[in-house]
Amino acid sequence: MIDFNLSEEHKQLQEKARKFAKEVVSPAAAEHDRSGEFPYEIAKMAWKEGLLNSHVEEKFGGPERGSLATCIIAEEISAACSGIGIALDANALAQGPLIVAGNEDQKKRFLQPMTEKAMFASYAVTEPDAGSDVSRLSTTATRIDDKTYAINGLKWWITGGGVASWYFVLAKAEGGASGFIVPADSPGIVRGPKEENLGQHASNTVRVAFEDVRVPIENLIGKEGDGFRIAMKTFDYSRPLVAAAAVGVARTALELATNYAKRRKCFDKKIIKYQGVSFKLADMATHVETARLLTWKSAWLYDQGLSNTKESAMAKAYAADYCMKATIDAVQVMGGYGYTMEVPMEKLMRDAKIFQIYEGTSEIQRTIIVSSLLRGR
Ligand SMILES: Cc1cc2nc3c(=O)[nH]c(=O)nc-3n(C[C@H](O)[C@H](O)[C@H](O)COP(=O)(O)OP(=O)(O)OC[C@H]3O[C@@H](n4cnc5c(N)ncnc54)[C@H](O)[C@@H]3O)c2cc1C
Repeated sequence: MIDFNLSEEHKQLQEKARKFAKEVVSPAAAEHDRSGEFPYEIAKMAWKEGLLNSHVEEKFGGPERGSLATCIIAEEISAACSGIGIALDANALAQGPLIVAGNEDQKKRFLQPMTEKAMFASYAVTEPDAGSDVSRLSTTATRIDDKTYAINGLKWWITGGGVASWYFVLAKAEGGASGFIVPADSPGIVRGPKEENLGQHASNTVRVAFEDVRVPIENLIGKEGDGFRIAMKTFDYSRPLVAAAAVGVARTALELATNYAKRRKCFDKKIIKYQGVSFKLADMATHVETARLLTWKSAWLYDQGLSNTKESAMAKAYAADYCMKATIDAVQVMGGYGYTMEVPMEKLMRDAKIFQIYEGTSEIQRTIIVSSLLRGR
């Protein structure tokens, strides 16, 4: 039996997120894009509305909604502003390692507080020499006694890093790459200034230096040497979410371009009557639909407890690549108007690019898909 309908619960959630996006996120999008200010107030409102912490289990105060629900929310918020969307979603990525492999005590200490008030956390894996190739990690976690580690290293491009209350940090310990939760107020943490990025200006990306930061052994997730597996497993859960955000941006580009093409006249005809324009819109609509189907399927697999590594890589690569293409084509459909800052089309195009880079580049997603094929999956 196959069923493409959303459940009543998912439909209600979609409606709620759409209303929030329209009433709260859309009106603030241009200003956050201009100022680059972090959307604290919007995050607080989203938290109050119950739109954050979707994966957190009920026993720790969360709604335990699962991956598909998170994707539904992410598409709606990012359709209004993906900079604000990702500023909120960074929490989900940071929470991933705890959800995948944290123990009860760690979930209680770090996930539960996020359900009690609006707060932020970051996933700190990337370093100057370790992006796609995480094995080049140079941050170290040295055991200094039977209770404590000392962490030293520099993490780069950490989303939400300037506002986080804690970090998931991947560091090399004696037993191999290991994942730690590090409270942001630990002595020795130095946060850099906000990076000036091409798009998603509302999102806060910074460098975070760890200078002899003491971390109790209770904050080690799993065992020494489990870190790489945990960090990668987190992507099975976070990539559908990023793919959904890309679907949201592409969907808005399609809507704006279609509305414009229905109004704009050239050579006595509405431009939508020209195949050169209308076929672009038809292709965009097809890609949005395909990307959403792939995204929802990968999220559904995750929710069923089934392997989704290949499907989430497919969803992320497809949604990111076609989001980029959709926004470029949408600017073209709008001609000179699309290029001006009077309409949000150029913002969509700037915002789209990062989907092909973070959470694993589009090339890395393809290497994941190929390794699945090589294993006969
Ligand atoms: C705005 C922003 C936010 C981010 N947020 C976070 C965050 O919250 N936490 C975090 O840990 N990281 C974060 N990152 C880092 C991000 O995940 C990395 O930038 C990304 O993984 C790519 O790594 P890199 O930039 O070092 O590029 P590199 O790994 O140096 O890659 C450079 C190019 O080579 C290609 N390439 C590399 N290896 C291969 C291969 N085997 N086959 C084919 N092509 C290959 C890549 O696809 C890319 O095109 C963020 C980055 C940005 C820009």
